Amino acid sequence: MKAIIIGGGIGGLTTAIALQEQGWNYEIYEAAPEYKAVGAGLLLGANAMKVYQRLGIADALIPQGGHLERLYIKDYKGNVLQQIDNDLLQQQYGSRSLPIHRATLQAALLGYLDEPVRTGKKCIAVTETSEGIIARFEDGSEAKGDILIAADGIRSAVREHYIGSQGYRYSGQTCWRTTVNMTLPEAERIVTSEVWGRGKGIRASFMHVGGDQVYFWFTKRLPEGIPLTNEEALALIQRELANFSGHMKAVVARINPSQLIRSDLYDLAPTKNWHKGRVVLLGDAAHATTPNLGQGASQAIEDAYVLADCLSLHYDHETAFRHYVTRRMARAHKIVRISWQMALLTNWEGGIAVGLRNFMVRNMPASATKRQLDFLYNIEL
Ligand SMILES: Cc1cc2nc3c(=O)[nH]c(=O)nc-3n(C[C@H](O)[C@H](O)[C@H](O)COP(=O)(O)OP(=O)(O)OC[C@H]3O[C@@H](n4cnc5c(N)ncnc54)[C@H](O)[C@@H]3O)c2cc1C
Repeated sequence: MKAIIIGGGIGGLTTAIALQEQGWNYEIYEAAPEYKAVGAGLLLGANAMKVYQRLGIADALIPQGGHLERLYIKDYKGNVLQQIDNDLLQQQYGSRSLPIHRATLQAALLGYLDEPVRTGKKCIAVTETSEGIIARFEDGSEAKGDILIAADGIRSAVREHYIGSQGYRYSGQTCWRTTVNMTLPEAERIVTSEVWGRGKGIRASFMHVGGDQVYFWFTKRLPEGIPLTNEEALALIQRELANFSGHMKAVVARINPSQLIRSDLYDLAPTKNWHKGRVVLLGDAAHATTPNLGQGASQAIEDAYVLADCLSLHYDHETAFRHYVTRRMARAHKIVRISWQMALLTNWEGGIAVGLRNFMVRNMPASATKRQLDFLYNIEL
């Protein structure tokens, strides 16, 4: 059996590795002409790391990322609103969250593949026949397989053209990300804080992602598509973070504006249409979420493992896809919903509203926090 995978992002690459483990043949097609060292980091949740443990990848990834002991949510004066103890995650759930540079993760995943990724292959159409599935590419070429896995991201061409559902929602926030080269003091290397400003979606964070790389991100409530050059964006970031306490300003001072990556933050309204015939959606193509829980990539990684497992357990692809949806949809949609609510919460403005928001987050009962951690990290694969 052969799977055609459209999209060589974190979801597509992890799917290929998981299928390889199950003895499937696969071909991966990626639209970008080449892999570039993407200048941002990400936090792989303890749940994603559990998947990578199963796939035998975690031990190689861990030394390439940062070593994180605590994650905080703080207000801009430095008061702690919430915290997660990463050592406790390790003790309770058997894995810990890993901050890592995206390019490092990408290179590591590529290193596990038996088959090369075919780059410069933008999928523009999919046709199903009685014998299989055909993907057609912009350059006129095509690929044939038994099933097609669409891991082509939030703006999935396969979903839009073949399955049909759209439902993009703008969260009201724009994000800028980058990495800077600097050596953080030890006390700053082992923690990360998501710092909330005085409403209007203003949040910022930095974290050590391995070597001398520090990942920085910033969000603000802004109209979608607002025209701002990178230099104007950096000036905005400096202005908005001027009264933030701690080490934030030292990191911002290192930012090279030409290396800022901008993303207007959208998600996909939850859709039940995850498969049709021989085609199945995975990762952001199925359930793109705002990054408020830092779970988008982690959910794509869970999808990859579960889909490969279902395909190994059920010979018939329709049955395998149904089982995949049963095991994945409710959880992925819940994450989309919670992240969306958090995005709205951080958009609040005005002293009273922001004070109330911070009070609610700071005084969340320990039992509710524990339930949320269990939900995110206590996964059964
Ligand atoms: C600001 C921000 C911060 C984030 N932080 C985190 C975090 O800390 N932790 C976390 O877990 N998640 C985070 N995420 C979410 C995470 O980046 C995504 O959920 C994850 O990348 C999804 O992986 P994917 O493989 O499904 O899609 P993508 O990463 O979007 O990959 C899709 C791939 O398909 C290719 N492609 C697209 N169209 C076609 C086509 N027609 N034909 C062929 N190839 C195609 C693209 O070039 C791309 O390589 C963040 C997202 C944002 C925007």
